Amino acid sequence: MPLLRDFFIQLSENQLLNNAAQKYGLKLGAQSVVAGTNIEEAIESMKELNRLGISCTVDNLGEFVYEKSEAIKAKDEILAVIEAIHENGIDSHISVKPSQVGLDIDYDFCYDNLMEIVGKAHQYNMHVNFDQETYDRLQPTFELMEKISETYDNIGTVIQAYFFNAKENIEKYKDYRLRLVKGAYKESAEVAYQDKLDIDLNFIELIEYHLLHGKFTSIATHDHNVINHVKQFVKDHNISKDKFEFQMLYGFRKEMQLELAKEGYNFCTYVPFGSDWYGYFMRRLAERPQNINLVTKQVFNK
Ligand code: FAD
Repeated sequence: MPLLRDFFIQLSENQLLNNAAQKYGLKLGAQSVVAGTNIEEAIESMKELNRLGISCTVDNLGEFVYEKSEAIKAKDEILAVIEAIHENGIDSHISVKPSQVGLDIDYDFCYDNLMEIVGKAHQYNMHVNFDQETYDRLQPTFELMEKISETYDNIGTVIQAYFFNAKENIEKYKDYRLRLVKGAYKESAEVAYQDKLDIDLNFIELIEYHLLHGKFTSIATHDHNVINHVKQFVKDHNISKDKFEFQMLYGFRKEMQLELAKEGYNFCTYVPFGSDWYGYFMRRLAERPQNINLVTKQVFNK
């Protein structure tokens, strides 16, 4: 399995394949985990989720941004998404990857773009999550969040449990709304746990810490063992349901998403959309090679 994981992560980092994929619309089964290629389709998907009692966080997919013009285009699209969510009365917040709006180009340029996004969302009382990416972007992302929070309070970020420094960071940033995840990228043994058991144990420790000491906690996982543990933990510690939510990705474990919402837990689905779906989809295959079934079904059921 680790070999397959590495294989799909490598594919996710291939810019040529990424460019090719964009030309052909949603393919290879991506349509079951990506909510369309444009805002209108994403809005329809979110309306449906809202009808089921599920809130959303929306990600306008975009990777390999190395030109300022591409970053500005991405920022403008995110501003349009914020406007569309507001106009349609959708229960959703925004997820943004700093690299998409210029982190790999110029820090100050990225700061300006994020300020505009967070400022616009603030007008509508909408939260913005800065998604975490690879290790080299971790510290700059925390710093951007800190700097922007001097002006706006509607931001938070992600703590990835595979990093050795996750505990230190969760303590430092406990007063922010945080999404806790296991971690999706390939990281070196110098900075991150490689063993699934170590990651899972750290994940549980971080979740318990933030539920007890932090602001609002988003527990983002498809792992039923972790979810069951959290249910018991909040019961034992009298933690009210409005202090946390569960999050899962669009199209994954749909029945469990619905069940958790019906049980009265706050539930939020991460809704990715856009023509730049390739890297996102490859990372999902890396996490769970069983998802390759999605691909084979699509290829053979033409
Ligand atoms: P896994 O370890 O993948 O799965 C644990 C077990 O759960 C599996 O062994 C299986 O028994 C069961 N299971 C899992 N999936 C399924 C399924 N589809 N059907 C049936 N059983 C299943 N990562 C980042 O690095 N940065 C981010 O900003 C980020 N944001 C995220 C936002 C959300 C809402 C979510 C859900 C994930 C995000 N991730 C992010 C990805 C995350 O880091 C993990 O890579 C991803 O969630 C896979 O780990 P897992 O916790 O779901 O459990």
